Amino acid sequence: MNVGVASAFDTTAWHDRASGLKPETRLFIDGEFVDAKAGGRFESTNPATGEVLAEVSRGTGEDIDAAVAAARKAFKSGVWSRMAPRDRMEVLYKYAGLIEAHASEFALLDSLDMGKPVSDMLNIDVPGAVITFQYFAETIDKIDGQVTNTEAAAFHYILREPLGVVGCVVPWNYPLMMAAWKVAPALAAGNTVVLKPAEQSPLSALLMAKLFTEAGGPPGVFNVVNGLGEEAGKALGLHMDVDKIAFTGSIEVGKLMMVYAGQSNKKRVTTECGGKTPQIIMADVENLDTAVQYAVGGIFSNQGEVCNAGSRLLVHASIHDEFVEKFKELSKTAYIPGDPLDPKTTMGPLVTRDQQERVLGYIEAGKQEGAKIAFGGGVPEGLEAGCYVSPTLFTGVENKMKIAQEEIFGPVGAVIPFTDAGEAVAIANDSIYGLTAAIWTTDLNTAHKMARDIEAGVIWVNCFDHGDMTQPWGGYKQSGFGRDKCFETMLAHTQTKSVWIHLG
Ligand code: NAD
Repeated sequence: MNVGVASAFDTTAWHDRASGLKPETRLFIDGEFVDAKAGGRFESTNPATGEVLAEVSRGTGEDIDAAVAAARKAFKSGVWSRMAPRDRMEVLYKYAGLIEAHASEFALLDSLDMGKPVSDMLNIDVPGAVITFQYFAETIDKIDGQVTNTEAAAFHYILREPLGVVGCVVPWNYPLMMAAWKVAPALAAGNTVVLKPAEQSPLSALLMAKLFTEAGGPPGVFNVVNGLGEEAGKALGLHMDVDKIAFTGSIEVGKLMMVYAGQSNKKRVTTECGGKTPQIIMADVENLDTAVQYAVGGIFSNQGEVCNAGSRLLVHASIHDEFVEKFKELSKTAYIPGDPLDPKTTMGPLVTRDQQERVLGYIEAGKQEGAKIAFGGGVPEGLEAGCYVSPTLFTGVENKMKIAQEEIFGPVGAVIPFTDAGEAVAIANDSIYGLTAAIWTTDLNTAHKMARDIEAGVIWVNCFDHGDMTQPWGGYKQSGFGRDKCFETMLAHTQTKSVWIHLG
């Protein structure tokens, strides 16, 4: 894959390209860009500067109705759902290629919209989206029905069919990639889609929709309605003609999606919600430097706005001080807040002023509860115009503290000491979340035992955030249910139909 590298342009060149960017701002319904029926618009702001980036069409219930109707019409026509599997594969493959070809445009859109460094977009998000569409394209002709063994007078087969119209509701932290994780399996299985991006990052989804049409995707198959959560998102969740909501976002809104389903047509719901990932560093860790490197990256990459951010650093008491010293040392150079359009920047601003204030509020709460700031804890000097928060580490944290229990979604790590494996597992599991966990040890028994005992959907041993598209991604407990990536996700966008034929 060749999405290019951010350093192919210098900071000035990225800014020049940004000022020449004319992003689409309307809704995309039935193959066309249209204004919101009520004519409303909302502002998307660049969190690095505080400047308004675009005024985006604010879809409401009427627009959701139009998008769902277009998606239903396209589904029923069979133009996509009954397309020969190979042909559908070809469209999605071509689509993946077009996303790759527009890598720098996507990089700019998401970087300007939510503050992510442009280099992260080219290293992580764009390749992640391309691979997602390729992977699910590859699954299309791997789905079989089944003929079962019956008595002689009967013939029974099971068809595997798409669900119909899938509503995808996604967050702002990886706008392109999270949309890809939801939209790709839905489309691959033959469903039609209405995507509701987060209001903080509405732009890249519109380019996605345009490119889908260029790839040969028929009108009505992939629709995008931007708007506020309580307007467009709620209308989609409550819609009587939507068959499934594939949701990624907070626990609170994940629960609302379940309520909406119960209040409307009992649509299927899958929810990928947040996390409070424990990274457990045992005294017998093979290489403390490597563990520290992954611990620093685990909490500071993407400004800490990551569902699986390794926010709870559970460190054996015997190596605690050494760990903290090494963590501090590496953090002096690894994640320095700066201009997201500088290819060397590794940390941008948080997504909005509200999010910045929320994270600073957690830092205050940590101090008040008695945790100690090892470094950071405020707004970086000279960057006050943007929504920046300095990388921050707390020590002396107890797991009952707010900063250890609640998802901060910012660059704030908390070190919690422990004395034995049993205590580490108890602390790890003392959380409403259960998305991911990591264990650093050289003892195979400890690794396997902990992997079984920790309540989380993904466990890493002697690594962090590793994996590929075959890996089921999703949580235990309130981190959600349903899985992203992996073949199981494709199947979750289908249903079985049993056909029993009496042979007379
Ligand atoms: P959020 O729950 O506020 O919003 C997510 C989406 O839901 C947005 O599109 C929003 O417009 C919509 N929404 C908000 N209120 C709504 C309502 N009342 N009715 C219907 N829709 C509504 O989450 P966020 O702040 O955008 O994203 C951060 C959260 O996402 C974090 O908790 C993070 O952990 C989670 N997340 C999870 C994963 C994962 O894979 N598990 C990945 C990325 C982000």
